[in-house]
Amino acid sequence: MVKEVEAQGRRYFYCESCKLLYEDKKWAEECERGCKKNKTCDLGITRHSIKKILEKI
Ligand SMILES: [Zn+2]
Repeated sequence: MVKEVEAQGRRYFYCESCKLLYEDKKWAEECERGCKKNKTCDLGITRHSIKKILEKI
């Protein structure tokens, strides 16, 4: 599932499978789809990620 988090007044979305964080929900959904299907992240998608989700958020 794509999870929504709020940090510093902004909304971010992350893929629950790999915990990569995205500014755009669309990419988080794409990432999740790829993670489920391929059991690994597609580089074409993960390059849109901001970073690995931080523990504090
Ligand atoms: Zn993912």
